[in-house]
Amino acid sequence: MEGMEGMQIEDMQIGDMQIGDIQVEDYVIGGTAAEGKLRFFLSNTTELVKKARELHNMSAIASVALGRTLTAAVLMSKTLKGQNDKITIQIKGNGPIGGIIATCDSNSNVKGYVHNPQVENCLNNEGKLDVANAVGKPGFLNVIKDLGLKEPYVGNVKLVSGEIAEDLSYYYYYSEQIPSIVSLGVLIGADESIINAGGFFIQVMPGADDEIITALENRICCLPPVTSFISYEEKKEAVEILLCGLNPKITQEGTCNYVCNCSRERMEAGLISIGKEEIQSIIDEQHEAELQCHFCNGKYHFSEDDLKALIK
Ligand code: ZN
Repeated sequence: MEGMEGMQIEDMQIGDMQIGDIQVEDYVIGGTAAEGKLRFFLSNTTELVKKARELHNMSAIASVALGRTLTAAVLMSKTLKGQNDKITIQIKGNGPIGGIIATCDSNSNVKGYVHNPQVENCLNNEGKLDVANAVGKPGFLNVIKDLGLKEPYVGNVKLVSGEIAEDLSYYYYYSEQIPSIVSLGVLIGADESIINAGGFFIQVMPGADDEIITALENRICCLPPVTSFISYEEKKEAVEILLCGLNPKITQEGTCNYVCNCSRERMEAGLISIGKEEIQSIIDEQHEAELQCHFCNGKYHFSEDDLKALIK
């Protein structure tokens, strides 16, 4: 891949591509470092964040806020053990974005939305999009893990920053007692397009001594922004950059995608769950119903006859 540094995938012409050379597919990698005393996850989520922006017609700042949360859900989903497990991040502050939700299954299929996709861009003192202000404090962050048990596991912390990555580090430290570093990035160009997106997540395992923690802290201190070293072409190099000197070993590697699994059957089940009386009042007042999926904006129309059939 010589001579390609700094070049953006979207700038390339198909004719320049060597078949099989470049895979423009989002990925998530997991592994251990420092002889198993650290575990890490690293992901490039550019394509799925672009897809989310397109589906929800989001402003730049809404794209950054949702993109960070989707990326976090992908990274955190790799800590799930069961095939049917799911993880959901809910963020609710008092800012103009209104709320953010992202949910990811154990195969790294992620989906999400923000309450106000057209929230106005505003900049902070550093001249960056002010996600903390759009999210707003006070507020809270919930992590819901559906592990196939009767009740899902729910962890809750108050928002400490609103920038999302810091809030998730805080969540892991205070709610799960695992010291963790979370870094999330969505790089926006001058034309407000998404250049790339991704993140990493490192956890300190029991038994890690001060030497390992100091080495990790020193590494993280001088690390460039995550969006500058995740590439589609050189995943292993990205891991080496992240954990240079800490002997990282990749143990899992896969793709991640924006996927909505809504269906007419699920929408019917939703309607049935509101009860016969409610459905009857929709029939009486509106003679039809149109339901819209929050995650993909897919629309499902139910005629009067459809609704009557549901009552039966
Ligand atoms: Zn959907």
